[in-house]
Amino acid sequence: MSEGLPVVAVVGAPNVGKSSLVNRILGRRRAVVAEEPGTTRDRGYARAEWAGREFLLVDTGGMEPAARMGLEALVTLQARVAVEEADVIVHLTDARTGPTEADAAIARELLRSGAEVVLAVNKLDDPSDDTERYRFYALGEGEPHPVSALHGIGVGDLLDEVVSRLPETTPPVEEDLLPGIAIIGRPNVGKSTLLNRLLGQERAVVSEAAGTTTDVVESEVEVELDGGLRERFALLDTAGVGRRAHRARGVPYYSALRTGGAIRRAAVSLLVVDAVEGLVAGDLQLARQVEEAGRSLGVLLNKRDLVPASRLRELEEQAAVRLPDLKPPVLAISALTGSGVEKVLPFAAGLHRAFTAKIPTHELAEYVNRLTADNTPPRGVKIRYATQTGTAPPRFTLFATRPGDLPENYLRYLENALRERYELYGVTLKLKLKSSR
Ligand code: GDP
Repeated sequence: MSEGLPVVAVVGAPNVGKSSLVNRILGRRRAVVAEEPGTTRDRGYARAEWAGREFLLVDTGGMEPAARMGLEALVTLQARVAVEEADVIVHLTDARTGPTEADAAIARELLRSGAEVVLAVNKLDDPSDDTERYRFYALGEGEPHPVSALHGIGVGDLLDEVVSRLPETTPPVEEDLLPGIAIIGRPNVGKSTLLNRLLGQERAVVSEAAGTTTDVVESEVEVELDGGLRERFALLDTAGVGRRAHRARGVPYYSALRTGGAIRRAAVSLLVVDAVEGLVAGDLQLARQVEEAGRSLGVLLNKRDLVPASRLRELEEQAAVRLPDLKPPVLAISALTGSGVEKVLPFAAGLHRAFTAKIPTHELAEYVNRLTADNTPPRGVKIRYATQTGTAPPRFTLFATRPGDLPENYLRYLENALRERYELYGVTLKLKLKSSR
């Protein structure tokens, strides 16, 4: 899971072949590649993939108001893209004309900005002729990578270099494992009682996770969903009910270690809260751990047999107020009497579904269009484009003019609308803003 897709921008002086290179990378060749100075098109963002890494590719070619743009303005513009948006910049130059003063000016700005730059030299008639590209070492951007955007030569090697420089993203929930559901909570809230019930009820296969330092025992459970579909999950026991962990049960250090490991391993954590005691600091701290790990959270109000219904409603409101970034859904149960326990795994499965949701691009675009039409962004900011840039947890990026001018409360408006529409409860929904022009 990532903070959205990394961004790769192609920059360079006019007519070095930026758009050809972008189209070549995207694998959709344009029939005509105009050679006239100042040929522009809309600035594009597109998803691209190389060697198993996905990224957003930005073509700055469309940003140039063509020949009218002075060198200085061009350089400023490209540096801005470098600093504000891209994780890696491909600085494209033209072997037939360069290195030119424009190339050198762009190189200076990029180096000053501290951007991660890969230098590429386009239009080499003979890519094996090293003397040609050696001249470009003078730009100070390291090894010049020879390419022919038009013929596709060298583009693979260039992309190898680009993806090797992409930032590491936060470690994803391991996909080859069963999706995990962790039962977490302070001591004595009822975790063990609940686990024993769930395992009894689900005729689960208990299997110890081998080699983990956290001693978390995993049990395979199967959940029957609406419509008779079955889904399998790994239930993670942080209470130390399981055999191997038993030794350390009750020892705070080990239980904290187990909980941390389980939270990272699990897509969904279920926070067991004692309804008599309410949401106390220790509960909120565990919730924050889930939030920081970028996972999904549900709250189980346990011991409902001991409190009146009004207390449950009060606690439900409290959860929404005290965990505003997660808005976790709440389920009231009694682990002791078994009331509501049959709903626990379907509840977790629902959270998992929201966590891994993929919203079709056109649908998202339409919905965001409608939201911005219903409630126009203030200060003349225009939202041009919205895209889901990650899943598990879901991440979204908005491209807007002057994103710095968009007030926080407008972002909250969009976040809340997305959350409601796609039932994205229990996860943080940080919208990332990027500038489009
Ligand atoms: P853990 O430390 O979180 O694993 O908590 P336990 O499962 O050991 O439970 C702590 C105490 O709370 C035990 O005495 C349980 O019997 C009791 N308990 C657990 N769930 C409930 C419940 O739903 N209602 C009531 N009344 N007691 C419960």
